[in-house]
Amino acid sequence: STAVETKEFQTEIRQLLDIVIHSLYTDREIFLRELISNAADAMEKLRYTQLTGPEVKDQDAALEVHIDTDDNSHTLTITDTGIGMTKEELIGNLGTIAHSGSKEFIKHLADKGDKKDLNLIGQFGVGFYSAFMVAEKVTITTRSYHLNGETFIWESDGVGSYTITEGEDRVRGTKMVLHLKEDAYEFAKEETIQRVIKQYSSFVPYPIFVNGTKVNTVDALWTKNKSEIADNDYNEFYKFIANAFDEPLLRLHFSSDAPLNINTLLFVPKENLEQIGFGRTEPGVSLYCKKVLIQEKSPLVLPEWLRFLRGVIDSEELPLNISRETMQDSALISKLNKVVTSRFLKYLDGQAKSEPEKFKEFWEKFNFFIKEGAANDYNHQKDLIKLLRFESSSTEAGELVSLADYISRMKEDQSAIYYVNGPSREVIESGPYLEVFRDKGFEVLFTYAAIDDYIFGSIREYEGKKLISADEADLNLGETNQQERSADALSEEDVLALTNWLKEVLGDKVTDVRESKRLVDSPAVVFSPFGTNSMQRMMQLVNKDF
Ligand code: ADP
Ligand code: MG
Repeated sequence: STAVETKEFQTEIRQLLDIVIHSLYTDREIFLRELISNAADAMEKLRYTQLTGPEVKDQDAALEVHIDTDDNSHTLTITDTGIGMTKEELIGNLGTIAHSGSKEFIKHLADKGDKKDLNLIGQFGVGFYSAFMVAEKVTITTRSYHLNGETFIWESDGVGSYTITEGEDRVRGTKMVLHLKEDAYEFAKEETIQRVIKQYSSFVPYPIFVNGTKVNTVDALWTKNKSEIADNDYNEFYKFIANAFDEPLLRLHFSSDAPLNINTLLFVPKENLEQIGFGRTEPGVSLYCKKVLIQEKSPLVLPEWLRFLRGVIDSEELPLNISRETMQDSALISKLNKVVTSRFLKYLDGQAKSEPEKFKEFWEKFNFFIKEGAANDYNHQKDLIKLLRFESSSTEAGELVSLADYISRMKEDQSAIYYVNGPSREVIESGPYLEVFRDKGFEVLFTYAAIDDYIFGSIREYEGKKLISADEADLNLGETNQQERSADALSEEDVLALTNWLKEVLGDKVTDVRESKRLVDSPAVVFSPFGTNSMQRMMQLVNKDF
């Protein structure tokens, strides 16, 4: 006897639904992971509210996910006892976009039309809509945890609009009924659901029941002993918390008692989504206290340049009732941040030594984050610089050296670390800047990214050695081997005459013409009076506000 309200989906959501509904996407079973992870999120939020906030409806209702299949009516039902949604939340959460990253993701999908990218749907805050890969209609009945809340029914076929109706009061939480498309009837079969849960959701921290039988082990993996955990357990756990379909590239699991009690499990994904054009990655490490979620995907618990990490940081020392507002100023959070970051950098340094190939893969994909940190994060700059890798005049293409490698090979009469910036190895090697270094047998680092020069410019020195750009006009390397004028060289008078003539001919186009002591084979080289090439690139970078 209540009115039915019809509402339009936001434009971007309509666009996304259109792609989701019409794509012939092969891994569509991931929809189940998305809905289960939403159910688990809703229960995490409820648990936190229960511990810290006001009284909730149905205080004793067990925190469980129930999945029921009906092969006759071809429906799949997922029920949780989480926080539920008010009417405003239904409208705000299911039908509009919450993150800017989701918009970019949808635009990317629409432009590129690459269906395998649908795999990433859960990583961009729009996982719910994957339900429409398999359902021709979705009916959601939800009751918010507020004591005086009401029950609402949301329904849609995913085309253009949805309806909201008032429902009869029910137990706290959310029930989603998927009316399956004909080609997706398999998801009304118990065996299919069991298999998919095993694959993607075995580490949900709440019991999952399929048609009344519990199917998962409920464990906070990060609190277990490393020796009890198999690689596969870690991988499955990663897939669950990162909404990922592939395995992680690296992982670090560590526990400590001092200076803080911490249990941490961190993962580096296989791909850097920023690098492959998906816009800025949002932080992905959640903060827990004794297995209770305090802040999901916390922007505070790690520095921004570690936003590519996925995982969990659990510390017993956090006060459970720490409010999300005061977290910003919490000395404890910044200490936690420092300790975990240092530990992770130490781990990477260890990886570089023990698994160089893997580290190289990491470096190729994630170097920009490390460089971003090295340029800005003075707390960790020293450890970050240790991780930097470059090609150099002494390596083959593709082979990388660290600053430590460089120093260990420095010539006796060499006092500084030299580097030269250029767009590629070929350009640098064919340019005039290297000549004098070749002649002296000094190694030169090749920096291809403007940020490399920014870092070198800002640290200036490493292990007591100055960092000097090889294209500096006033470079002084001491005596070169070519100091003796060869018999067929110009006399000093001729050189003077030549430079004067050049100055006259070139006029305003140059500020000076000088005899060079650094050239060996090239006849001439041009330097900018406004600083080195590197410096100019650096200024462009700063102005671009990276
Ligand atoms: P994300 O989970 O990344 O926020 P989704 O598209 O999966 O993105 O879900 C959108 C939002 O809808 C969630 O953030 C949550 O607020 C709400 N939501 C989805 N499912 C549930 C549920 N079972 N219980 C309560 N809220 C839910
Ligand atoms: Mg979700």
